Amino acid sequence: MNSCIFCKIINKEIKSEIVYEDDIVIAFKDINPQAPLHLLIVPKKHIENVNEVNSEDKELVGHVFVVAKEIAKKFNVDKDGYRIVVNTGKFAGQAVFHIHFHFLAGREFSWPPG
Ligand code: AMP
Ligand code: ZN
Repeated sequence: MNSCIFCKIINKEIKSEIVYEDDIVIAFKDINPQAPLHLLIVPKKHIENVNEVNSEDKELVGHVFVVAKEIAKKFNVDKDGYRIVVNTGKFAGQAVFHIHFHFLAGREFSWPPG
């Protein structure tokens, strides 16, 4: 998908502050952080959102959480805790239609979310 902003980040056509990368995912700093640490963990495969996840993506989705755990350790937020958010569709306020996992840490979060 040529016009997708996250595909462009993955292809290094747009600069981002990458904190982790492997063959399956990339993680970079959110441009508009909502917490002291706000990263986006993004599968390299262009999937629009959770509605478009297939059974063939099971390993990919599992891998995201293994990476999230490693990132939590790397940034020393594993003990205090963190929040992982995946917005899907209009009601959730999804703005970028390439599936991404918000990784938020460094402050306390309220519940229920707004
Ligand atoms: P969502 O509302 O879940 O689709 O979130 C999209 C997120 O992508 C927002 O938190 C934006 O701040 C973030 N974002 C958009 N463009 C960029 C970019 N070029 N680099 C980093 N983060 C971005
Ligand atoms: Zn994309």
